[in-house]
Amino acid sequence: MSSKLYGLTSLLPAPSPVRVRKAVIVTFGGGARDEETFAPDGQENISNLIKELIPQSTFYTQVVNRGILGHYVATASLATGMYGSISNCASLPPEYPTVFEYFRKDLKCPASDTWVVAPSDGFNRIAESSHRGYGPGSGAGVILPKHLLNAAVPGVTDYEHLLRDNYETRFYAPELGANQFQIQQLEQILKLSLTDFAAHARMLSSPDELSVYIARQLMRELAPSLLWITLHDIDIAHSGSYSLYLEAIRRTDRLCAEMWKEIQDQPEYAGKTAFIVLPDFARDPDLTAGGNGFQHHRTGDHSSRTTWMMALGPGFREGLIVDRAIDSTSLVPTLRSLLGFSPAPAQGKPIEELT
Ligand SMILES: [Zn+2]
Repeated sequence: MSSKLYGLTSLLPAPSPVRVRKAVIVTFGGGARDEETFAPDGQENISNLIKELIPQSTFYTQVVNRGILGHYVATASLATGMYGSISNCASLPPEYPTVFEYFRKDLKCPASDTWVVAPSDGFNRIAESSHRGYGPGSGAGVILPKHLLNAAVPGVTDYEHLLRDNYETRFYAPELGANQFQIQQLEQILKLSLTDFAAHARMLSSPDELSVYIARQLMRELAPSLLWITLHDIDIAHSGSYSLYLEAIRRTDRLCAEMWKEIQDQPEYAGKTAFIVLPDFARDPDLTAGGNGFQHHRTGDHSSRTTWMMALGPGFREGLIVDRAIDSTSLVPTLRSLLGFSPAPAQGKPIEELT
């Protein structure tokens, strides 16, 4: 994407000297093409991003993912700052230390201070690596909202639209233990009764709405300093339904705005939180053999690898559009610099406009 091509303009006001104390990261498992988003005919699908969020953000028009284009391995790369090679279909931890492990070890933070909210069984192990010196017990807590729902309303069929695991091949589904673990997460961590949770879930239309509901509840109850949410509704594109794909883009656009509003509305977050949003990668170009363009991410070409990122919060320039290509693994070094934990020599440099 190019800012000149799609009419995005840089406003360039002076940056604020205030530093961030917390970070909320939203990634999308399954990005969208420019045609349905930033191109002139697509902008109506992302009106919250275009009119509200991007004008308040430092916005990168070219974020390149040079790794494997599978959602779990790509999101693990975003969270480790290193391109990994773990199988996208196995229940394996990332090979390299995660941002959650660095954060907790260097800043001596308790487990309650960092959480991942993820849509799919396959993301159950994303918060703790297999790297020596880190591993079990050293990373973030992971909440899989659909597992909470399964535990709260076992066998009830009204909620099937919220329980979809992923839109591609089945991940290996790990044994997560008895429902007691999920019920404990609901009642003791999120402070939700099973009845209230089930009643609220009944009003939601998608797995991502359920994830955002849980994330907001976590923010209200624990106010974690590092919160990572992975959304996945847009990947319904794999079904081949263009209308469902568009609907998911619009919903994701709205949910991003709701998360930013939640940050503004909560005293624990307002004025001290970096809010960073980026898809894990994009989708194939139109007229791709074996798909409808929007449907898959199989080609590995420039279009499927290149996406965007926006950063909002104190210390970031509002309305700055950056067309320089950056690597998607720059996120972890940037978070290190923002939150003040120490750098790892193998990783890249922080993104200069953000730190
Ligand atoms: Zn996908």
